[in-house]
Amino acid sequence: MSDLGSKFKDVEEFRLCLKQFGIQHNFNYVLQKNDSKAITAKCIDEVCKWHVRATRLPDKATYEIRVFQEKHNCTRVNKTMNDAASGKWITRHILQDIRENPNMTLKKLLS
Ligand SMILES: [Zn+2]
Repeated sequence: MSDLGSKFKDVEEFRLCLKQFGIQHNFNYVLQKNDSKAITAKCIDEVCKWHVRATRLPDKATYEIRVFQEKHNCTRVNKTMNDAASGKWITRHILQDIRENPNMTLKKLLS
């Protein structure tokens, strides 16, 4: 999905991949059909620059990704990503502490 030049056999396949991509990366988008030759998906956040544009090829069925701005600059997505990252970090370090100090109780750990 996420590469320039990716091809989809029709617009439905493109929509489907987009949907999965949105779920995976935890954001919502809006679809804009500029004309019959191209379809653009934009992050639902208006200030966000994330967008992907697929252009219909001359066979009138296949769509190919021609533009892909994959970096979000909306706060919602960044916040989610940061939360996930710090969550993992905390888990990893707590586990490490428990392994190194098997007698340490969770209560002590959290105090
Ligand atoms: Zn965004």
